[in-house]
Amino acid sequence: MANNIFKVQGMHCASCASVITKKISKIPGVFNVSVNYGNEKARIDFDPKQATPALFNDVVKELGYTLTSENMSSEKMEDAHDHMGKENYLEELESKVAFIFPVSIVIFIAMMWDIAARTFAWIPNLPIPMELFNLISMIVATLAVFWVGQPYLAGVLRFVKYGTANMDTLIGIGTLTAYLYSTVITLLPQVRILIQAPEYTYFDVAIVVIGFVTLGKYLEVRSKKKTGDAIEKLLHLQAKNALVVRDGKEVEIAITEVVHDDVIIVKPGARIPVDGIIVEGSSFLDESMITGEPMPIEKHAGDAVVAGTLNTSGAFTFKATKVGKETLLSQIIAMVDEAQGSKAPIEALADKISSVFVPVVLVIAVLSLVVWLTIGASYLGFSQALSLGILSFVSILVIACPCALGLATPTAIIVGVGKGAQAGILIKDASTLEKLHKVNTVIVDKTGTITKGKPTLVDIKNDSGRSDDEFISLLASLEKSSEHPIAHAVVQYAERKNISMQEVAEFSIVEGKGLRGKIGGTEYFVGNVKFINELSVSFDESSIEKYTSQGKTPLIIATKEKVLGFATVSDELKEASKEAIANLHKLGIKVIMLTGDDERTAKYIASLVGIDEVVAHVLPQDKLAKVKELQERGHIVAMAGDGVNDAPALAQADVGIAMGTGTDVAIESAGITLLGGDISKIAKAISLSKMTMLGIKQNLFWAFFYNAIGIPLAAGVFYPVFGWLLNPIFAGLAMAGSSVSVVSNSLRIKAKKL
Ligand code: ADP
Ligand code: MG
Repeated sequence: MANNIFKVQGMHCASCASVITKKISKIPGVFNVSVNYGNEKARIDFDPKQATPALFNDVVKELGYTLTSENMSSEKMEDAHDHMGKENYLEELESKVAFIFPVSIVIFIAMMWDIAARTFAWIPNLPIPMELFNLISMIVATLAVFWVGQPYLAGVLRFVKYGTANMDTLIGIGTLTAYLYSTVITLLPQVRILIQAPEYTYFDVAIVVIGFVTLGKYLEVRSKKKTGDAIEKLLHLQAKNALVVRDGKEVEIAITEVVHDDVIIVKPGARIPVDGIIVEGSSFLDESMITGEPMPIEKHAGDAVVAGTLNTSGAFTFKATKVGKETLLSQIIAMVDEAQGSKAPIEALADKISSVFVPVVLVIAVLSLVVWLTIGASYLGFSQALSLGILSFVSILVIACPCALGLATPTAIIVGVGKGAQAGILIKDASTLEKLHKVNTVIVDKTGTITKGKPTLVDIKNDSGRSDDEFISLLASLEKSSEHPIAHAVVQYAERKNISMQEVAEFSIVEGKGLRGKIGGTEYFVGNVKFINELSVSFDESSIEKYTSQGKTPLIIATKEKVLGFATVSDELKEASKEAIANLHKLGIKVIMLTGDDERTAKYIASLVGIDEVVAHVLPQDKLAKVKELQERGHIVAMAGDGVNDAPALAQADVGIAMGTGTDVAIESAGITLLGGDISKIAKAISLSKMTMLGIKQNLFWAFFYNAIGIPLAAGVFYPVFGWLLNPIFAGLAMAGSSVSVVSNSLRIKAKKL
């Protein structure tokens, strides 16, 4: 099965997305289609034996759109092309607005004057004769309908040819009706007299509706560009060239030509072109654009550097370890792009509504015209019923246009995901962002989440009868093959003391407890109390209490016969931990710490940072069970872990939050990745989700609100009682206003403080 992301060009409103979805899903071999109006992309899962991208393009071309595969052509060319396409579209809209908007204002004033003159006797009539006014209006309206309103006409044409209707169709049918009716009245006076229609025309309606809708569209496209500028900012972080050493000489090459193990020279003030490890020199690096940390960080030989970050005043060389699409920056860009285009569950509702809305509205509009011409005519007479009926037909089509509905969710998601990325909070998809706002329980892992995860060896209690060096050598040799942070602490200590290591046979890890291995024929065990208690050796637990109650982790070494002693390691708290927990409490969230460590050790650490509940001595599989248990009790759980042994629990949690430290970021593994491993970002991510969801709900309210009160008003439901009938001009104003207010409301999320 192939899965492809396509760029879609030519979508002018949200219902285009549902039209395209319907058409493509009918093609044999297509399993799943999702078209997003927000970022103008389509995701199509299909069987390449039965369907091809070219076929998809042929199908949508008939409807006036183009599909280009993202995987097929060179990305850069396409980005440039896409960018130009958008610019041209905006320029075209700009010139249309420059013409139609002033004209609309003049017509609007003339119309208001006319209404006022007919209502109040003391206001004089318009100082131009009706025939002349109609003639000028007709010329302007012709331009409005056939030039400015061309996309709406195309919508009508599509409806006639293929039976697919979208929002453009509604505006198109509405304005074309007003235009044709008025043209007949003006040019064919015989017909006008025959149907006894009044002398006034609706050219003004066609002009002003197209004027307002086009202005709304222009403002919408302009702000929509702004909603997506997080990606643009990230792209700007990418250096274009790199200074590398090739054959002993410094050469400047394009970053696309940098390969693994290239040695790259970084001068003061330069941007880091790819990911790598410093080999020589040192400097302070500004990593704020990636991690959100404002302070420059000092880096020396052996430290990792990340593409897109900025060197300050030092100079150094580094070896490229990740190039091209592998760099953290490329991964971030790809993920933000994907996440912004993904659909939040809440959007399914809006999609469903807009897909049935358009045909339903067409039916309502026709029904309303029929009612006017039958029931209305029996009260008002045919000629007045006809002219009011046409007015209400046009109004319904214009006000019912669910444009704002289609913009409500995607624009907020795009802003929310982008804002997160700029704060070092990487969100995998829209549904994660949506789920996050409901979280009421956060589970954190101790090592690497609350603490730095870089423990050091602090105490040695040697009861083995050997020298301390021999004791350490034993311990370090056994730990050498383990990847656990505790093991690193021991090995590092031994290396610093220049203690030699020994050969270990039959080594094995005992998950969550420790390890075992043979040295010189004797089997040794290293691990926690639980592990040692499983051996039948006697161990006085009270001997370690002094250490565990200070938050230190003991590692006990024993043979099958007896305990040889223990060492302790201590892991520093992250500076941000305490405040981060306090911020979660402020959001009303319960914080539970799960750890495989000793209970006293864990409780001590928990008390330092204000964690509500501790579960110690848990094995990785028990972490998963604990998450499940909380979920069964009705908690909505976010689990934050360092992403290695916590993976199953991260996956089980409603939202998995991975601590992405340095360059080792497995972005795909969790719903959310916090760059720099800063846990104060958990509360920020939850606030961001709350803001975004609130924004979406407000947007949906405004989008529905206009339509809900607009349609009955436009249909003339209130006419018999109050004499209210919505003029199509106000319908156009309301419709444009609703789209613009939805997009600006989404943009507001950007300015809010996290
Ligand atoms: P956590 O991530 O909370 O530390 P783990 O499952 O990784 O949980 O480890 C649980 C406990 O098992 C550790 O606290 C430690 O006591 C013991 N342990 C794990 N690996 C080792 C090791 N290599 N050497 C000694 N003890 C270990
Ligand atoms: Mg761990």
